[in-house]
Amino acid sequence: MKSRSETARDPAIKICPYPFARMTTKFDLFTPCCADWFSEAYHFLEVGDDPWNGTQAQELRRRILQGDYRLCNRQTCNVPLATLEELKASPAYIAEAVLSREVLAAMEAGQVELPGGPSVISVTADPRCNLKCPSCRADHIHTVTPDEEKGLEKTEAFLRNHRESVRLLKFGNGEVFFSPWLRRMLKGLSSEVYPHLEAVSILSNGLLADEHNFKLLEPGSKYIKRVNISVDAGNAPTYRKTRGGDWERLLKNLGWLAQQRRAGRFEWLALYFVTRKDNFESIPEFIELGRELGVDMAYFSAFFDRGSMSDGEYREQTVHLPLHPLHGRLAEICGPYRTDQKLLFRFPL
Ligand code: SF4
Repeated sequence: MKSRSETARDPAIKICPYPFARMTTKFDLFTPCCADWFSEAYHFLEVGDDPWNGTQAQELRRRILQGDYRLCNRQTCNVPLATLEELKASPAYIAEAVLSREVLAAMEAGQVELPGGPSVISVTADPRCNLKCPSCRADHIHTVTPDEEKGLEKTEAFLRNHRESVRLLKFGNGEVFFSPWLRRMLKGLSSEVYPHLEAVSILSNGLLADEHNFKLLEPGSKYIKRVNISVDAGNAPTYRKTRGGDWERLLKNLGWLAQQRRAGRFEWLALYFVTRKDNFESIPEFIELGRELGVDMAYFSAFFDRGSMSDGEYREQTVHLPLHPLHGRLAEICGPYRTDQKLLFRFPL
């Protein structure tokens, strides 16, 4: 017997498609999006044996079908919502949360235990990276703890269980071209293992995203269609401060990626910028770099506290907050670009 939402469905209710299509494999929780986007109450819900159709997943879906978003932090999450009719008319309303016909029928029936598995799986279980950016961590992470090892095993099991339903795989958190586990996972992708896999999306720091590594990681790397590169700087001195990497090497790799994008090898190329006191003055140069490369989008996000610095140091960096003494200067710098459709500012200006 399938679980059903308790009340009759109001057609005007706006629905987030993520919990009906996506799963992030990092925690034991059911996290269809970023775990930080949920309230504390959500994290206390029992997960159940199978995170995809467990108690927590069903409770989130049940509430969302009723238009109840109290478990979500909608100030942080800006995923667009749609009515069920709109989703039925456009199942790929959000490219990263494509809904199958069966899932749409289940949603219409108020069924929160879904047929099949997720169409999108985001693999974020491996934190290993070649850099140690303060927007993410306090020090280098080149090895994994025994608990993280278990997380990797669980992720592999989850991927095996849902290999039939997955259409898009995302690799982020750790660096996909650095972590041995992520490299193995990427290289091993094939139509025999994932019969419906259409694309891989990566979030990378770009320093190892070169032709050599793409070749080494074939055949799996051939699935990479969407490329997102975290840059956080518009010039070499700022990059040294915010990321500590080799700016010239990054520019060379970005040039190659942009050329591949123009040639149709990728369908998407975007740059990311975590905005903070140490880098915001270089925003115009970063925007210019994106324009020269012809990227599809450049994202500017707020600087969240990941425990990489003291409370005082963190507060000093948070220029995205309206009460920060330098927020006015940030607004002045970003002002001329506000209407550019290829730039997305994820904080108030
Ligand atoms: S509304 Fe936002 S936080 Fe809630 S499930 Fe959707 S994407 Fe996640």
